Amino acid sequence: MPKRTCLGCRTKRPTGEMVRICLVEGGRLAASASSNGRGVWICRNKACFEAAMVRGKVERALKSKLLTDVQKQLSSISEVLGF
Ligand SMILES: [Zn+2]
Repeated sequence: MPKRTCLGCRTKRPTGEMVRICLVEGGRLAASASSNGRGVWICRNKACFEAAMVRGKVERALKSKLLTDVQKQLSSISEVLGF
């Protein structure tokens, strides 16, 4: 299984233990393993999601200045995923 670096804790893990967050139309974030384009990987746990919510982190990783409500969007994604 390929490994990716978590945006939250910077640890390399197999992608099966992680969530891929990508930028979709309208400048929104979505959890998707298959979507094309830029994405970031985050471990499947709350601590890493919270670490990834640090201001500007996701925007820098995705090279997007269009993002709004990153914290809110990441917390609703983690809620949907159940952690
Ligand atoms: Zn992590």
